[in-house]
Amino acid sequence: MAYDLDNTFAKILRGEIPNDTVYEDDEILAFRDINPQAPVHVLVIPKGAYVSIDDFGRDAAPEVIGRFFARVRAIADELGLARPGYRAIANIGGDGGQEVPHFHVHILGGGPLGRMVAKQSS
Ligand code: AMP
Repeated sequence: MAYDLDNTFAKILRGEIPNDTVYEDDEILAFRDINPQAPVHVLVIPKGAYVSIDDFGRDAAPEVIGRFFARVRAIADELGLARPGYRAIANIGGDGGQEVPHFHVHILGGGPLGRMVAKQSS
């Protein structure tokens, strides 16, 4: 899947859409989700043009991947989630329910989150 330069997070990175920034450096931006699914809901994105964890994990330099996931963990800690626990989710593609085609990790926490996914009926 080619990277869509007009996706919402690309617009956020270009400053065309405002965001509630939690963390930013040269490679990474983290901001609060506009439609939170938990008391704390933050999205962490690389600034590079990656559609999902699929091309990020395949094409990004190992050091970039390492710094990204180390930062996800650090942000969760700074949000006070490390001790009570939290969930980190990356949705990928259609079956994964991905809506915005720029790789992002959801950090969700601030209370018990329940099941990981809705139970499938058999
Ligand atoms: P996903 O389904 O994994 O692609 O998740 C996309 C997430 O982006 C959803 O949780 C949306 O609520 C969130 N979102 C969409 N537009 C914005 C925005 N402008 N600012 C912050 N979060 C957004």
